Amino acid sequence: MDSGIAITAEKLVDVTIKKACKIRIDNQEIIKLVGISSKDIAFKATDNISYWLTFSQNSVFYCKICNKGPFTKKGLYLHLSRLHRYEIKALLEEEIKREVRTAL
Ligand SMILES: [Zn+2]
Repeated sequence: MDSGIAITAEKLVDVTIKKACKIRIDNQEIIKLVGISSKDIAFKATDNISYWLTFSQNSVFYCKICNKGPFTKKGLYLHLSRLHRYEIKALLEEEIKREVRTAL
C-alpha cells in the first residue's frame, strides 16, 4: 500500500504544480492518472497541497517554499517543477496517507 501511495504521489506532482500556478486543469486529467477509485483523494490532496505552494500579489506569483519571486505563471511552473519536485512529492505522499486514514 505504501509504495502505491508513492506512485500515486509521483503521478500527481505535475497536476499539483499546475493548480498552484492557477493553470486550468481538467478533473478528467486527474482521473486518467489515478483511476476512478482514487479520484476523490486525488482531488483533495492536489487542492490542499497546491494551496501551500504559492501565493500571488498584484498578479505576479511567489514560491511559498523558498519565498522566491516574483514569477510569471510560466516561470513559477518551471521553478516548482525544477527545484521543488521532490518536496512536493513528499508533501503529496503525506497528504494522501492522511486522506486514506480519514476515509477508512
Ligand atoms: Zn521555490
